[in-house]
Amino acid sequence: MKRKISILGSTGSIGRQALEVIEKLGDKFDIIALTAGNNINLLNEQIKKFKPKYACASNMSLIDGAIPATLEEICSNKENDIILVAVSGKIGLKPTITAINNGIDIALANKETLVMAGDIVMPLAKEKGVKIVPVDSEHCAIHQCIKDIAQVDRLIITASGGPFLHKSIEDMKNATVEQALAHPRWNMGKKITVDSATLMNKGLEVIEAHHLFGMDYDRIKVVVHPQSVVHSAIEYVDGSVIAQLGLPSMHIPIQYAITYPERFEGIKSKSFSFSEIARLDFEEPDWDKFKALNIAYNAGKIGGSATVCMNAANEEAVFAFLEGKIRLFDIIDSVEEMMSKHSVSYNLSIDDIFDLDNEIRAKTREFLHVAV
Ligand code: NDP
Ligand code: MG
Repeated sequence: MKRKISILGSTGSIGRQALEVIEKLGDKFDIIALTAGNNINLLNEQIKKFKPKYACASNMSLIDGAIPATLEEICSNKENDIILVAVSGKIGLKPTITAINNGIDIALANKETLVMAGDIVMPLAKEKGVKIVPVDSEHCAIHQCIKDIAQVDRLIITASGGPFLHKSIEDMKNATVEQALAHPRWNMGKKITVDSATLMNKGLEVIEAHHLFGMDYDRIKVVVHPQSVVHSAIEYVDGSVIAQLGLPSMHIPIQYAITYPERFEGIKSKSFSFSEIARLDFEEPDWDKFKALNIAYNAGKIGGSATVCMNAANEEAVFAFLEGKIRLFDIIDSVEEMMSKHSVSYNLSIDDIFDLDNEIRAKTREFLHVAV
């Protein structure tokens, strides 16, 4: 039977690749809805090709060929078997909760959802019997390795190290936007690419892993692996380590997440060859250069509102960096500043989370002297 799917953020990097996977898989999917932000031209091209019933964009009146519907309406539509949440930023949180409340399985790319509200989202999914299958390559790798989480001692998350892995702190301080966006392995949206340059992305992924797999922070380890072939690993209590390997392509984790628990041939550019890869390198992260990683571990361990504060400050500062208004290291300075002034609270509601998110964003802009 065909799976009925909606893609939130179909015009983004993950969304476009998901449509490539779906196209390749032929008759496996029926698309219920596609959604964009501002890229209405691409959305309308996608509507023409994939014929979803519904579509959403920032300007609904420009949608051509599908019934306009809000993200909330799309996520409450029980026609969906699965929703791929591939929007960027906080916009992913509420629709994800709506989909879970309606018993719809989630393929989750949007990591902010768990960083902001993992304590709400994961128990709710459990209560509603909803599967959350990760798209993020590291978590997808871990998902593929785990048989019984109770037997797992540690999660080992790999990090490519980004464009500044072997550059000096000075080089990194003076990095241009172009240099920060030149990721050596992955072609992704701009926000996550900047996060990969500071290693905040890995910090967000540690928090994401904590929520997805219910693992304590001191049992989640990050190792730098520049080739991005080992996508992550787990160590069982008996010392056995299972890793998931593959050529660096997001098609594989996207396909895994939207077809789970089945597997299909899909988009496979070539077979995996150990001898062609020849070597795999691993090293400890440079904690002085990549302070974001430590900040994220600390925020995760504190929990409650700490990760909301960190995420909001980081995202707002990344936008300012992308607009050329601040330097790369100012991102980390502003996150540290916001964290140091923040008094942590627990048991937040979704509304509390959004209020705090807005407050921290405004304070971050004030600290950085940047207008909205
Ligand atoms: P992109 O920036 O490429 O795409 C973001 C998508 O979200 C676009 O479709 C965009 O629409 C839409 N969008 C953005 N803001 C809004 C809004 N306010 N309302 C509605 N739609 C909006 O991001 P990525 O695809 O790179 O990343 C998506 C998510 O997946 C992120 O959370 C990221 O962390 C995560 N992720 C991405 C990976 C990757 O390889 N790219 C890997 C692992 C995780 P439009 O372009 O039309 O404005
Ligand atoms: Mg990742």
